[in-house]
Amino acid sequence: MPIKFDIITLFPDIIKCYFKESLLKKAIENNIIKINFYNLRDFSDDKRKKVDDKPFGGGRGMVIKAEPVIKAITSLIRIKIVNKKIKPVRKKTRIILFSPRGKNFNQKIAFNFLKFDHFILICGRYEGIDERITKYVAIDIISIGDYVLMGGEIPALVFIETISRLIPGVVGKSELLLSERIVKNGAFLEYPQYTRPAILKLNEILKIKNKKVELSVPKILLSGNHKKIEEWRKKHQKIIE
Ligand code: SAH
Repeated sequence: MPIKFDIITLFPDIIKCYFKESLLKKAIENNIIKINFYNLRDFSDDKRKKVDDKPFGGGRGMVIKAEPVIKAITSLIRIKIVNKKIKPVRKKTRIILFSPRGKNFNQKIAFNFLKFDHFILICGRYEGIDERITKYVAIDIISIGDYVLMGGEIPALVFIETISRLIPGVVGKSELLLSERIVKNGAFLEYPQYTRPAILKLNEILKIKNKKVELSVPKILLSGNHKKIEEWRKKHQKIIE
């Protein structure tokens, strides 16, 4: 069974194209992951398909109403209500809301999400979503960084790509090497990489005649001495947690 990502958004077309090329496209074709898009407008009772309204207490902008979000979720899964909270019946389903006020996303958190096989991703827009979704519906509130975007669509892509990359079979054979670089709990070691040519002739690339500018590669990497190369990489690596 593929790992399923259900994206609830007002603008599915902004991100649909992202899954039509490269490794994510292959992962979908190979039935490793499955991506579904649901337009929040389809769950509006309003004649004009309106999903937002003015904030209580005044202030600028519009807020996305809770009803269409709840209707979209309950059209996808079976839920139960515990202490006023809406919860998925299935334990392997996670309801995730993207918000700049959420918990900062990182490699370790992504790794921990591999326990689940179904993600409902709620993308906000405008001034965000009625806070009752945060309090009573979403299980995880995730921020992709301390800055404010226009919508939750890019955070949803970041989330899906980071998690998909950790699912066996999504990245190719050459990336198998990566598994050796996992330290623990999904933390990665990343070090600088170079490829041919060993000497990059900047003057030739930029067609500069009277100046010779050559950018070289650290000599150790060309030495063939695996022990030394390992030491060099250790010295320059960064642990991403
Ligand atoms: N005033 C709102 C911000 C709205 S930004 C608030 O404080 O929540 C509109 C939407 O973009 C949000 O609902 C959220 O889904 C998304 N978004 C913006 N920045 C984000 C970030 N750094 N991480 C995750 N989602 C973000």
